[in-house]
Amino acid sequence: MKLALPAKGRLRDPAFRLLEDAGLGPEQPGDRALAFPCRNAPVEVLLVRAADIPEYVQDGVVDCGITGIDLVRERKAQVQELLALGFGSCRLEAAVPQESAARKFEDLAGASVATVYPHLTSELLPVDVTLVDVTGSVELAPRLGLADAIVDLVSSGNTLRTNGLRSLGVLLESEAVLIAGDEEAARPFAAMLRAVVEARRHRYVMLNAPAASLERIGELLAPRVPSVLPLADDGMVAVHALVPSADVWRLLPELEAAGGSSILIVPVERMAA
Ligand code: AMP
Repeated sequence: MKLALPAKGRLRDPAFRLLEDAGLGPEQPGDRALAFPCRNAPVEVLLVRAADIPEYVQDGVVDCGITGIDLVRERKAQVQELLALGFGSCRLEAAVPQESAARKFEDLAGASVATVYPHLTSELLPVDVTLVDVTGSVELAPRLGLADAIVDLVSSGNTLRTNGLRSLGVLLESEAVLIAGDEEAARPFAAMLRAVVEARRHRYVMLNAPAASLERIGELLAPRVPSVLPLADDGMVAVHALVPSADVWRLLPELEAAGGSSILIVPVERMAA
């Protein structure tokens, strides 16, 4: 199976890490060639531009690819989006200079909009605008008098603020995605990546508690049903459960207050069905 990965840019390193965590790193560790075989599975990696990956997958040059949802949708590639990968998160937003009178997308009717996403801009803005083609530094276009507004990718919002721009809202949420031409053929590979992506979203919690606290602890861990094991100490049990990573810090003090002790939070390597 041929898999295209971004050769550079912000998706490259996390895509490599995902492959490594799935046990599919380069056969020769540290291999920096533009094409290399992976360990443990018949997968050949090709390193290409992130923006070219949707087309390569659509045309069957490669079987699968990892790239941004924004790039897949902008190119209207005829591919299957198999799995959101949990990195490269950003939003496609419309923004105007701070002093602009525009407050919402509709206020952009008839305005000139600079973007490197002409298709998504026309498709997602609810009004007609005049597109201004730029190749980079989109956020400078209003200041240079090239456009009234921009449509561009935003993650923290710092670049918009630094350039005196104000967001009018989000047109598209994006993150890295696994795409394939033939879903059936790519299913085993997608399952390997899914096991890692799911595992990263979870932590394994282990704690000891008095049996009398079990009901309250079960409520806190719901809807997951924990495993409960008797301990040698009379009246004490060990409780094990998977919890979403994002909930851990809220849960910890609550579990402690409910009687939990010796609480361990450990990462999960893979999660299969
Ligand atoms: P690059 O090769 O670095 O230009 O990567 C571009 C891709 O990274 C975009 O198409 C997005 O999918 C993703 N990305 C994530 N956050 C951002 C951001 N703040 N700005 C641009 N691209 C981003």
